[in-house]
Amino acid sequence: MNGRFAPSPSGDLHIGNLRTAVLAWLLARGTGRGFVLRVEDLDRVRPGAEQRQLDDLAAVGITVDGPVVRQSDRRESYAAAIATLAADGRVYECFCTRREIQQAASAPHAPEGAYPGTCRNLTEAQRASRRAEGRRAALRLRSDARSFTVTDALVGEFTGVVDDLVLQRTDGVPAYNLAVVVDDGFQSVDQVVRADDLLASTPRQAYLAGLLGVEIPEYVHVPLALGPTGKRLAKRDGAVTLRDRLAAGQTVSDVRAEIASSIGVPSERTRESLSDLASHWSLDLLPREPWFVLGH
Ligand code: GLU
Repeated sequence: MNGRFAPSPSGDLHIGNLRTAVLAWLLARGTGRGFVLRVEDLDRVRPGAEQRQLDDLAAVGITVDGPVVRQSDRRESYAAAIATLAADGRVYECFCTRREIQQAASAPHAPEGAYPGTCRNLTEAQRASRRAEGRRAALRLRSDARSFTVTDALVGEFTGVVDDLVLQRTDGVPAYNLAVVVDDGFQSVDQVVRADDLLASTPRQAYLAGLLGVEIPEYVHVPLALGPTGKRLAKRDGAVTLRDRLAAGQTVSDVRAEIASSIGVPSERTRESLSDLASHWSLDLLPREPWFVLGH
């Protein structure tokens, strides 16, 4: 079984993304797992970004098993998963606009962030009239849970909303939550290490995994990297990518050592290769607070 890193090729990885990748790699290798990469390119693609991301990951020492999987090559698998759910009566068309959802979701008893179910029980005639108005449908999951609890190695038990989540967007693109679950199953991923800004989607994904017969992975949501102002790390924070740091005169080893030190590696060992670190780093060394990064 495998750990993984699944970047969206929307730009260069910053040092916080690289740190998450290093953590995912160390945890996978330290537990005898393989490590796979997946390019989440259904959305937000910047030309050239994928190759730069792969090069940067390799430069810091991340080794990968098997071919890199690209979501854009896997449309048929997402369609097949939706067809499986549809055969169980678990898929319906939703014609709501974002605005309609926001207005309906602000009703007092709707759980925060949950789809209020407006299109769940439309009749065929109502659907036909919405189509006739030229409205395009998203596909939603007919969920029978309102919440789901996952166990995270750092966060502990976490219960979050499960609603009639989107499986396919109105533009026909498979939804992130569906693609992640289908692909983690396809890539034999049983350990998901990622930044904790994704924790809120995790109960939805775990619930969906159960419906699709995919094993629910072990989750490790690691603290996010923040810039000097306390907001999530971004380009505006200065030299935050590997290339920026190299251009500013640092070496790859300096950047790796900065990451190693940020995850609790003792100072005398921060210059070791990732494979040497794997044998004497463990999750209990990781600081639980967000990592504040100073742009150089
Ligand atoms: N592609 C997502 C991102 O770059 C990560 C998805 C995941 O790790 O599940 O934010």
